[in-house]
Amino acid sequence: MKLLLVVGTRPNLMKASALLRAFRAEPAIGTVLVHTGQHYDDSLSGQFFTQLGLSAPDYALNVSPGSITQQTVSIMARLEPVLLAEQPDWVVVIGDVTSTLSAARVANQLRIRVAHVEAGLRSFDHTMPEETNRVLTDELADVLFVTEQSGIDNLLHEGIPPEKIQFVGNVLIDALVHCRPKANRLNTVGALGLIPKQYALMTMHRPANVDTKVGLQAVLHIAETTARQLTVVLPLHPRTRAGLVRFGLFDTLTQLKNVRLLEPQGYLEFLNLLEHAAVVLTDSGGVQEETTFLNVPCLTLRTTTERPATITHGTNQLIPSLDPVIIQEKITEIRVVRVRPDATPPLWDGRAAERIRGFFLNSDTTKTE
Ligand code: UDP
Repeated sequence: MKLLLVVGTRPNLMKASALLRAFRAEPAIGTVLVHTGQHYDDSLSGQFFTQLGLSAPDYALNVSPGSITQQTVSIMARLEPVLLAEQPDWVVVIGDVTSTLSAARVANQLRIRVAHVEAGLRSFDHTMPEETNRVLTDELADVLFVTEQSGIDNLLHEGIPPEKIQFVGNVLIDALVHCRPKANRLNTVGALGLIPKQYALMTMHRPANVDTKVGLQAVLHIAETTARQLTVVLPLHPRTRAGLVRFGLFDTLTQLKNVRLLEPQGYLEFLNLLEHAAVVLTDSGGVQEETTFLNVPCLTLRTTTERPATITHGTNQLIPSLDPVIIQEKITEIRVVRVRPDATPPLWDGRAAERIRGFFLNSDTTKTE
């Protein structure tokens, strides 16, 4: 059984590390790792390989930075000869990024079966490129590994045959469970002189929030007002930094009182910061899940979430308007009343990758025609 796993971005890497650990523990499975290079910045890619114990990719496609269309074309053109040479039984794609859909399309053209990890999530917001990637990848996939009940419901509603759907749990939580002891030993919170539960951790990078001046001004305003209650710790995504510089707002941010501006953090550092935050303000997908598992209150500064289990079974609340007053009220409320008692969505137990491995071991190796 040969599996070819494609990664391209920061959030892919944690999930891939859990999958590779499970696959490589099984002699009957051979794995090939392909990195498209969609995230090329060392702060979003290189350091994660070391921290997560990922082996160097077997193939680095080194696509250049560019628009979604340019990266799609490049990934597809560069991946095709790799798939033709390797002839894997399955191409495994993860999540909802450009690399996910591009790889699924090439595999589908070549009649190689596609496995989609983290299938079925839907924000129903078609202005998000991730939503298009999710829907189209699921359409092309031969097996769909789902993290939460909403994923099953969405896929069935879209007419995906039930036999293709596998409810396995969440490989991001597998990575968290594996890395948490190491992250705690690293104690980034202490090293930065922060007091546990006395700071807010903030991450913002979605185009809707950081690609316009108005959006970035709102982000600054939220940081400024939150900093009156709690120290704000803000690891700055390269996209957000670029936007701030472009609109002449970067200096304003550096001058805000009680705001600790950081470089994008390594996964272990970030995990430690997450675990001990009083509250997390984010527009990230993965962070909503990690805070739910860690039982840390999370305010998601978006109008929708594709991960509703983080609300029904977790600590997440959607804040549709970027209104600092509403956010301050929420933070005050959270600090008085605990959002939820420990509650974890079903199968978020650190063993999702083992279940995925079990599926491949039981699947036959005949390719689809
Ligand atoms: N993360 C990290 N360092 C940071 C910020 C985030 O390691 O400075 C991790 C975080 O723990 C999560 C992942 O990056 O696992 C989320 O990535 P991102 O928000 O870029 O993508 P999304 O989940 O929104 O697709």
